[in-house]
Amino acid sequence: MNRKLCLLTVLFLSLFLSATIAQNKTENVILITFDGARTQEVFGGIDLDILKSKTTRGKVEDTALYKKYWAPTPEERRMKMMPFFWGTLMKDYGSIAGNRALGSSVMTTNKMWFSYPGYSEILTGQAHDDVINSNDRKRNPYTSVLEFLQRKLKLSKTQVALFGSWDVFNWIGEHQEGAITINAGHEPYDLINDSEIRAFSKLQNEKLSPWDSVRFDYFTVKFALAHMKKYQPRVVHIALGETDDWAHGGEYAHVLNSFSINDQQIKQIWEFLQNSPKYKNKTSIIFTTDHGRGNTITDWTGHGEKIPEAQNIWMAFVSPGLNLRGEWKNAEPIYQNQAAATLCRWLNLDYSENNAQAGKPVTFPVNSK
Ligand SMILES: [Zn+2]
Repeated sequence: MNRKLCLLTVLFLSLFLSATIAQNKTENVILITFDGARTQEVFGGIDLDILKSKTTRGKVEDTALYKKYWAPTPEERRMKMMPFFWGTLMKDYGSIAGNRALGSSVMTTNKMWFSYPGYSEILTGQAHDDVINSNDRKRNPYTSVLEFLQRKLKLSKTQVALFGSWDVFNWIGEHQEGAITINAGHEPYDLINDSEIRAFSKLQNEKLSPWDSVRFDYFTVKFALAHMKKYQPRVVHIALGETDDWAHGGEYAHVLNSFSINDQQIKQIWEFLQNSPKYKNKTSIIFTTDHGRGNTITDWTGHGEKIPEAQNIWMAFVSPGLNLRGEWKNAEPIYQNQAAATLCRWLNLDYSENNAQAGKPVTFPVNSK
């Protein structure tokens, strides 16, 4: 073989190897969802019009919410609400799509714009508006990406886990009942024999949330973290609920404070991952929401078929092989049905094996460093 050809072969081989290694960095995937978390708050923090509409006495500037969350620019406002997400995660580790003011959009492909259809689209990679058109406790007729990953990676039941604040995840998360670990709603968590976890598991039913089917996110995160520490699952979905439930009740203070508390919970999860050799630099994460909500002072509390604004969502990505940082700008729109295939792509798996109609993996823009 002549010298040139030989060099060329070495070059190609090393390129091939480095590409393979970069892709193989991901050994675990995590999906974290915030129910009904509007793009308006995620990108812009507190909404002054809503605050004004809620201020019935005195000046808006004198309210506790204004003092806590108001700032002149959207960047400053969202930083006050989610300092860890914006100040650390999106700055140093990941990127986020969906800020329409910057020419990036993320949309649902389902036209229902409420929870079951949204989560099912995220978890199965496809909208089925003819079939999935209510939040009823009905078994998902389609296999989820969580089940697909369990099968492909030959994982045990404890290694694929969904922790949800809303009890309907017991039906959404798996087609085959009992395939994976699901702990949702006010369901006891008993996979760990630990006195603290046992006490919290009991407490969630003694200190009920205001909602029948949704527990406080505090418990969901507590159990998810305990499970991750003990079983080191490779596939995790943590489904937070409070940002939606408080909004339905028109409780804007609670909505903003939930964003803020959820931010601290993500920080806790992130710090756990960074301190674990099993997860550090080997874990890819998608953050997203099931649907948006209305954009006016009268319909921000709601969402659903009559509120088209609710089809606008956002999606954030943290992955060891991905150099993109901050907000996407002037990018092609992406869709809710792409989350499942993206999680699989990071693990070098092809989700179309499970569902040929599913959205394709997200193509990341290359306009950052
Ligand atoms: Zn809702």
